[in-house]
Amino acid sequence: MSEQSHLQVTEGRAATVGALPVNRLVPRRARRTVGPWCFLDHMGPAAVSEQVGLDVGPHPHIGLQTVTWLFTGTILHRDSLGSEQLIRPGQLNLMTAGRGVAHSEETRGVYDGDVHGIQFWVAQPEATRHGEPAFEHHDDLPRLELSNGNATVLVGALAGLASPARCDTDHVGAELDLRPGESLVPLHPEHEYALVVATGSVQVDGVILTPGHLGYLGTGRDELAVATSEPARVMLIGGEPLTDELVMWWNYVARTRDEITAAHRSWTDDDGRFGAVDSPLARVDVDPPPWAH
Ligand code: MN
Repeated sequence: MSEQSHLQVTEGRAATVGALPVNRLVPRRARRTVGPWCFLDHMGPAAVSEQVGLDVGPHPHIGLQTVTWLFTGTILHRDSLGSEQLIRPGQLNLMTAGRGVAHSEETRGVYDGDVHGIQFWVAQPEATRHGEPAFEHHDDLPRLELSNGNATVLVGALAGLASPARCDTDHVGAELDLRPGESLVPLHPEHEYALVVATGSVQVDGVILTPGHLGYLGTGRDELAVATSEPARVMLIGGEPLTDELVMWWNYVARTRDEITAAHRSWTDDDGRFGAVDSPLARVDVDPPPWAH
C-alpha cells in the first residue's frame, strides 16, 4: 500500500435523546461531516420499559434525511405524512424532511428490553432540500459477502450492490458484520469514509477502533482492510465530500441562519408547514436560536 493517511480517531460526546443515553459522534469540532453524513448518534445499548421509554415526542426537521438502524430492540416511528412504522434490527427507516416534516420516536407500550442502534442524518442537496417530505421503510436490503463476514447496504452502493433506498447524493451506508480475520471492502477513492464500531473492536491501519469513537478514513482509498479477532459489527459511512457549508441548529439542516429562524418560527407557531403527528406524546419545543432573540 502506498503512503496513506492513517485512521483518525475522534471521540464522541455523551448526550441523551428521550430517556436513552447516546454517544454523539458527528458533528464534532474535529469532524463536521463525512460526505453528506452530518449527524451520528450511537444509541444505547440501554434498557427501555413501560416506565422509561425512548419516547421523543413530535419534533420538526428540514433539509435532511433521518436514517434509523437498530442492532437490538424495536422503535415505533410516526410522522406528519401519516406513516406509522415499527422498525426492528436489520430494517431501515428513511425519512426525507425536505422543506419540513415532523415525527416521533416511541418505545413505551411498544417494546420492553434493550435498545441499541444508530440514528444518522444525511444533508440533502440543493436539488431536493426544499422539496416534499417522504418516508420509506425497507426490510429487504442487499447483502455482500466479504472474506470474513458480510455487508448489508442500507443506502447507496457497495461493490456494485445498490440499496433500493432513496439516495439524493452520491453516498453509502453499510453495516459490516465481521468474523475473526481480515475483510476487504471496495471503496471509491474520491469519496471520504468513516467507521463506527457498534459491538466488538476492529483494527484498521494498525489502529484499534472500539465503540464510542469515529474512525475517519479520509479519501484516496480504493479498498478498506478491516481485521478483527472477535465477532464485530461496524457501520461504514461515506460519500463525495460536501462542498456546501451547512448551518445546523436543533433539528434543522440548512445553508443560512435565516432559513432556520423561519423554520423554527413555523414550528413554534404551528402554522402547518410541518403538519401534525398522531402521537400520544407531547410536541417538543425549544427556545428560538440564539441569533434570533
Ligand atoms: Mn428526529
